[in-house]
Formats: sequence, structure tokens, C-alpha cells
Amino acid sequence: MADVIQLLPDHVANQIAAGEVVQRPASVVKELLENAIDAGATHIKLIVKEAGKTLIQVVDNGVGMSVTDARMSFERHATSKISKAEDLFALQTKGFRGEALASIAAIAHVELKTKQEAKETGIHICIEGSQVSSQEVCVTPKGTSILVKNLFYNVPARRNFLKSNTVELRHVIDEFHRVAMVHTNIKFDLYHNGNEVFSLPVANRRQRLVHIFGGRTNEKLVPVREETDLVKIEGFVGKPQHAKRTRGEQFFFVNNRFIKSPYLNHSVVAAFEGLIKEKEHPSYFIYLKVDPKSIDINIHPTKTEIKFDDEHALYAMLRAAIKHSLGQFSVAPVLDFDRDASMDTPYAYTKKQATIPTIEVDRSFNPFQEPNSHSGSSKTTSKNREVPFSFKKEKSAGWDQLYQGLDKELEDIAIAKNTFSTVTFEKEAETTQPVFKKEEDYQTNNVFQWNRKYIISTIKSGMVVIHQHRAHQRIVYEEVLKNITMAHAVSQQLLFPLQFNFTKQEVQLLETIKEQLENTGFVFDEITQDEVIVSGIPTLLTNGEVPVLFEQLISDLQQDLPENGFTLTDLLAKSMAKSAAIRTGVALETEQQQDLVNRLFACTEPAKDPNQKPTFITVSLEDLDKKF
Ligand code: ADP
Ligand code: MG
Repeated sequence: MADVIQLLPDHVANQIAAGEVVQRPASVVKELLENAIDAGATHIKLIVKEAGKTLIQVVDNGVGMSVTDARMSFERHATSKISKAEDLFALQTKGFRGEALASIAAIAHVELKTKQEAKETGIHICIEGSQVSSQEVCVTPKGTSILVKNLFYNVPARRNFLKSNTVELRHVIDEFHRVAMVHTNIKFDLYHNGNEVFSLPVANRRQRLVHIFGGRTNEKLVPVREETDLVKIEGFVGKPQHAKRTRGEQFFFVNNRFIKSPYLNHSVVAAFEGLIKEKEHPSYFIYLKVDPKSIDINIHPTKTEIKFDDEHALYAMLRAAIKHSLGQFSVAPVLDFDRDASMDTPYAYTKKQATIPTIEVDRSFNPFQEPNSHSGSSKTTSKNREVPFSFKKEKSAGWDQLYQGLDKELEDIAIAKNTFSTVTFEKEAETTQPVFKKEEDYQTNNVFQWNRKYIISTIKSGMVVIHQHRAHQRIVYEEVLKNITMAHAVSQQLLFPLQFNFTKQEVQLLETIKEQLENTGFVFDEITQDEVIVSGIPTLLTNGEVPVLFEQLISDLQQDLPENGFTLTDLLAKSMAKSAAIRTGVALETEQQQDLVNRLFACTEPAKDPNQKPTFITVSLEDLDKKF
């Protein structure tokens, strides 16, 4: 048989290699920014169109390239940064593999203009499909400008794989931030579709963070500093009171490179132990300097993981440094580092007498009560308080009766009947499909709450165990969907408008969903570049839940911005459900439990929460019998 092996042509090899280096526009941005930094630029401009899908341009004022180097730079394994294997262990530059430009040129149209300082003229090269299509002398300022157009024009599968512009732009901005947060002595500009998104002047680290993350950042930052033989730690952590429910601003840089490290993240979280709530995440901007020999430098260009020689020591030092800072800036109790803190009694308990636990129940609290009747809420005015659906009136009328001193048994029956009749009414008003086969199957008043998490109720054929948080999410979700689609929401006017500070992109994200938010009952007084003022909120929410909702929404939108209105609405309804639903751990009174059960089964899809997780399980009599 004839020989079959042959060497792949360069352009094919480059295209294959490109698959590893260039996943999306943001990967190109990262490589080009890094090249500009390696070239010693003091001003770098990044210009993108359509989130980088049609254009990515990086203009720098660095050293530029000679004519030969300009041609060479697009060859694979062509680099000026290392020449022998030992150089790998003393890397001072970001790039060293000589792969980026070759890869980019294999999957996009590239134009390069570059000039060295001492030269009169520069060179202009165009490349298509790894081939130089034109090369001419040109007049251009000192430095380099690289234009990358029509990314993946020759790899449709990759192009189709790209996400929406909002998502891709998010990735581009993330890369831009990661680079800009480290190189504070370089001026950076970012333009998207002709608009200036960021203009970051030369600054110190703190100022740079403020320029990136918005004016309020400054007051949130606590400096961290520690130096040992092993590591130099610098940077900031956010004060505990600014911790967020969503992971947002969490950055590690090792030797000026952004990295991800769940292990070090854990160390930071450990330093915050006892200072923030369990589900909150601290923000941090930590810059580590270690001996390049002590880390595995041969990391893949697009990977952000890193391997340290002495991870355990690093973990301990980082945790101690942050604890120390939090203590020093009197945001945490001062700790004695020589003692094993885990042996201590928590400081708040040392002087406490043992007391018999008492339970306080707010008898008037009713999370399911129609928000129009919120007792004593100074934030509402009657202006917008019409009740949108007549059956709601009926429902509240039913509730009133609950409080008329009926004896317990009668009361339970009354609740069951009232809420039940409301429920059927509600169902009839919207749809004629019965939720359950037999009415009596869910007409029940035997409920009890278990572990402040589950509502247990009996049905004819057995027992249902309802997850209170998920069930309520389903209820709120359907209510919000209804409000949005019918544009029927009721708004509670705030006496004191709420003011939120966001970054520019966060405001942009919220604006994409503004209309839907208004349909749920939000009233926006003013939206500027980095501030949002809200003067009305949905009746479903309380003041305190609004920031959590916005945070949640922004984070969801950053993850993936749906392209069409339908999924946007869905996303908003889910976020609102998550924020407004009663949580696990909340004690509910019998009526509230009963109401939850009834309202759940009045839903169109009672069995699943908005994220398709089960809201309840049933245990049949047979199941039980089998166990005995
Ligand atoms: P690497 O950065 O790993 O060396 P690249 O493919 O990114 O590989 O770049 C190849 C070479 O082209 C670099 O080593 C450098 O000499 C040159 N180069 C790339 N971009 C620039 C730039 N903006 N300014 C000056 N030289 C550059
Ligand atoms: Mg490079």
C-alpha cells in the first residue's frame, strides 16, 4: 500500500491551531492587547464593532515592527519574546508562543500598520486566509495598529456558535478589564459601535478600579498588603457590608496575569467568615507576585488556571492578610494570629448567659396577603393602587374574615373554603381546564410545616410534601408573567425614591429590560450613565428586595442575554420569583401554609418551579403501606 501520511499545509495547520487560541472575539482582544503591552505601549485603543464579530482593532503607540518582522509576525511559532527553552523560566512578557497572530490570520481578514520610531515610513500589510494579499509602504504614527475583520468568515460553524452581541461584548469587556486592572500605567480606551465605553487615564490601582467599576467603588475598598519570601500580596477586598448575592467582582492576578483559582477564592471567603452571610460573595481584587519558577508557566494561552508550588502556604497567607486588613480597618474584630481561632468561643458569645429560647411570631405578618393591604407601609400611596382583577377583591374579602375571632376549627374551614372558592374563580376566569381531576383531591385543610422548609398536606389518596420556596416561586412567576403580558401590574409609589449606582454596562443591561420591568410595576424616574432612580416598585416586592433583584437580573443578563422579548420576560419573571418568594427557614402560619397550597395548585403548571425543579412530591397510601 502506498504511503498515506503527509504534512498539513500551513494554512490548514494554522486554522486548526486557531481553534485553540481563538474561541470568540474576546480571545482576539486578549491577544492583541497583550501584544501591545509587550510592545511597551503607553496608550492602547480598542475599537470593536458588533461585539467584535465584524471588527476588532487595537491601536498602540509601542515600539512597532520592522518590515521583515511585520511579515514574520504572522508565521506560526514566530516570536521575538523567547529564543531558547531557558527563557521560559524567566518570562517577562505576556506572549511567548508566537501563535496568536498566525491563528488570527487564519480565521479572519487582518490588516496591519506598523512603524518603528526611528523610521520615516511604516508598512501596511493585508492578509486573507493566512496569505499576504497586499503590502505597501505607508505613513502611520509610531506603533502598531491591527485590524481584525469578519472573524470566522471561513469557519461558518464557529461563527454560528457565537453568542448574542450582548454576551460577546460582555466577554470582550471582561478581557479589557482584566488587562486594564493590571496595567494602570497605560491609558486605555474602548469604543463599541462608535461610542466610547471606557476611557481610563493613567492612575493608581485604586483609581483604576473606580474608573472601571464606578464612583461608589472607592468607599467599598479595603487595602490588603503582605509580603513574605514566598509571595507579595497586594490589592483590595470589598467591605463585608458590600458583599453581594451574586459573584461579581472577584479577581486574582498572578504576576500581572488574570487567573481563576477556586482554591484561593476559598481562602478569601474563609477570611470573611462570620462577617458576611452564607450566600453572599465578597468582592476582591488581589494581585499576587510570586517567583516565576514557583508556578507552572507553560500554561495554555487561553487557560486561566495556574499551578502553584506551595498552594497551602499561599492559602494561609492570603487568608491571614485579608483577615488582618479587615481587622485593621475596623471592619472586623481584631484577631490574634498566633492563636488558633477555631478554638475560640465566638466573641459575641463569651459574656452571654444561657437563656431559654423563646419564639417570637409576628401574627400580622402574611407573605401572601395582597400587597395593597400592606400594613403600615409608609412607602405606598394610594395613587396607583387600583386592584386590577375583580377576583382579587374577592380574595381579600375572604382574608378579612380570617381575623374575626372565629374559633380555630371554624377558621380553618373558612380559610379552606374562601381561598378555595377564590382559586376556582381564578381558574375559571382564565381557563376552563381543571387543574386536578377531582376537586376534593386538593380540597384540604390538613397542613403543617416541617423544618421551615416543607409544607405537608394530605390529599385523598395520600400526602403531598411541598417545597415552600419553590412553590412560592412558581406562584410569583406566573403572577409576574401575567402582569407583564397583560401590562396590568400595580405599582407602589415610594415616598423616598431608591437610588442605585451601577457601572455603565450594568445600566445598559438594565435598559434592555426596562420595558418589561415597567410592566411589572417599576417606575423609573431617571436613568443616567451610572445611576438609576426608582420611584415605584412592584407590589410583589419590598424595598429591600429591589437591590437584590437588580443584582440578580444584571448577573443573569451578563450570563446570557436572551435575544427575544419572550425569553427576556421569562428571565425577569424568574428573577422576580427568586427574589420575592418566601425562603426556606421562614416559619408560616397555618393559614399561610394553606394559602400557599391553594395558590400553588391554582397555577397553570404547579408541579415545577420556574427552573423546572419539582415543587412537590406525593406519597401515596400504597407507598406508605409498603413501608410497614
Ligand atoms: P507572541 O506574542 O507569543 O510572541 P504573537 O503571534 O502574538 O506571538 O506575536 C508575534 C510577534 O509579533 C511578537 O513576538 C512581536 O514581536 C510581534 N508583535 C505582535 N504584536 C505587536 C505589536 N502590537 N507591537 C509590536 N510587535 C508586535
Ligand atoms: Mg502575543
